[in-house]
Amino acid sequence: MKQLVVVGGSAAGLAAAETLRREGYEGTITLIGDEPYHPYDRPPLSKQILGGQWEPDRVPLRAPADLDALGLDLRLGVAATGLDLAGRTVALADGERVPYEGLVIATGVRPRRLPGDGNGDGNGDGGGRAHVLRTLDDALALRDRLGPGRRLAVVGAGFLGAEAAAVARGLGTDVTLLEPAPVPLAPAVGERVGRVLAQAHHDHGVDLRTGVMVAEVADGGVRLADGTLVEADEVLVAIGSVPNTGWLEGSGLTLGDGLECDEYSAAAPDVYGAGDVARWHNPLFGMAMRIEHRTNATEQGMAVARNLLRPDERRPFAPVPYFWSDQYDLRIQAHGHLRGHEEVAIVEGALEERKFLAVYRSGDRVAGVLAVGMPRRRSAPGGRRSRRGPRGGTRWGSWCRRGRNRFGGCRPWPGPGNCRAGRAGPCYGHRHEARCHRCTRRQDDDAGECPGALIDVLIRSPGASAPGLRRAVTRPIATTSTRRPRCPTTASWAVSWACSTPTR
Ligand SMILES: Cc1cc2nc3c(=O)[nH]c(=O)nc-3n(C[C@H](O)[C@H](O)[C@H](O)COP(=O)(O)OP(=O)(O)OC[C@H]3O[C@@H](n4cnc5c(N)ncnc54)[C@H](O)[C@@H]3O)c2cc1C
Repeated sequence: MKQLVVVGGSAAGLAAAETLRREGYEGTITLIGDEPYHPYDRPPLSKQILGGQWEPDRVPLRAPADLDALGLDLRLGVAATGLDLAGRTVALADGERVPYEGLVIATGVRPRRLPGDGNGDGNGDGGGRAHVLRTLDDALALRDRLGPGRRLAVVGAGFLGAEAAAVARGLGTDVTLLEPAPVPLAPAVGERVGRVLAQAHHDHGVDLRTGVMVAEVADGGVRLADGTLVEADEVLVAIGSVPNTGWLEGSGLTLGDGLECDEYSAAAPDVYGAGDVARWHNPLFGMAMRIEHRTNATEQGMAVARNLLRPDERRPFAPVPYFWSDQYDLRIQAHGHLRGHEEVAIVEGALEERKFLAVYRSGDRVAGVLAVGMPRRRSAPGGRRSRRGPRGGTRWGSWCRRGRNRFGGCRPWPGPGNCRAGRAGPCYGHRHEARCHRCTRRQDDDAGECPGALIDVLIRSPGASAPGLRRAVTRPIATTSTRRPRCPTTASWAVSWACSTPTR
């Protein structure tokens, strides 16, 4: 191949272009992006940029010299407007047609809008108060309007809305957070965890109103479906996003919730999708998914570049998804696919302390884990051991005999409340009892591999797609954690762990 085109100049598109070069491709790479900027990072927009800790010069993904070194045919500030699959050309807004032999589509998503927010639907201009938060310009425009004495209504308490609410509150803004669901983020993280995150907003003085439907942005604020006006100087509409596939209409590619791709992330011969825009079949989870996570964008961009270059050695794209979110002093991290889970178990820490690990079950598998307030990729004493443990099959008993715990090597657990089982008093380690969570009948004692150690691996692994991590997340629950037979009475999955005796 001598002419490759990447449409979408951000995380996924840049990762694809870089990987092509790294893998030895020397032909032309045309990178087309409709934003006027060099590729930049979006997660800081709702965090450091909105909060004023960073200036815009911190967000570019690469220094200009590094970008130059890639030798790209860079077309910025111009949108792709059409795709001719048979003729293998991409049409641009300036009238040009760019030929390709291989194509990567990485056009991401755009914010979903509300009536009256000035989105050009003829329902008003939002009075200049309506904002979305997707681009650098969006973030800078909103940050100029926040501060003491200002009132912000955030519509939607998903991760983006919640992060923005937290930052705005930190700047002294009066924040009202409006959410139609009874518990924010419940479908994603479960009700109990959702309530913990909701409480953090309450505690920081955010006026969180759940179960309310916003109808439109109106003069003076936002109008709810029941006609109530919630007054605000500024309104942030954070109600989800829509894949940028409009330019692919009529191309023959399959479009639904994003660009439909197979397990190789291919949408057609020599055409691949990557990042937020792509919906592909993840064989690791046996399901189609479209993921709006920063890490996935890079990993998928890299994967499709390799598949494009080496069609005979194509590999399915089978990652364990990872995302993080920062709200107030809470760092939230999740590995796996939490949506659609059937059960959540808190296996370490305590919800009320906002420091815990939750494990999510789908069928008989660990589908994912979520940590709040746990250090990212922490290499505590024993950290290396903790990673080796489950992969190498280290048994929990041998850990305990060494007098180690997961956080401090030989230090005792810090004290009451830190015991996963809620045991009062210092706890030096755990023997594990699994109990059926329905009939509370005891299943096992001094169980084998420690479930907590497994979770440590999931949370602290430096790469979400590390082989051990993959195996761990998708292994059947019965083999990932303890020797836990199903309960003979209820045949249900046992999820409760009890701390019996200190094992020092
Ligand atoms: C404010 C914010 C905070 C976030 N925080 C987190 C976080 O904490 N953790 C996390 O995991 N993820 C986070 N994300 C999500 C993460 O940033 C995205 O998953 C990631 O940016 C996706 O990269 P992408 O390249 O697929 O798409 P995008 O970053 O959306 O890039 C697509 C690019 O293509 C361009 N484009 C679109 N249509 C066309 C066209 N027709 N022609 C040419 N160019 C086009 C777009 O303008 C854009 O520049 C956040 C996102 C936002 C907006």
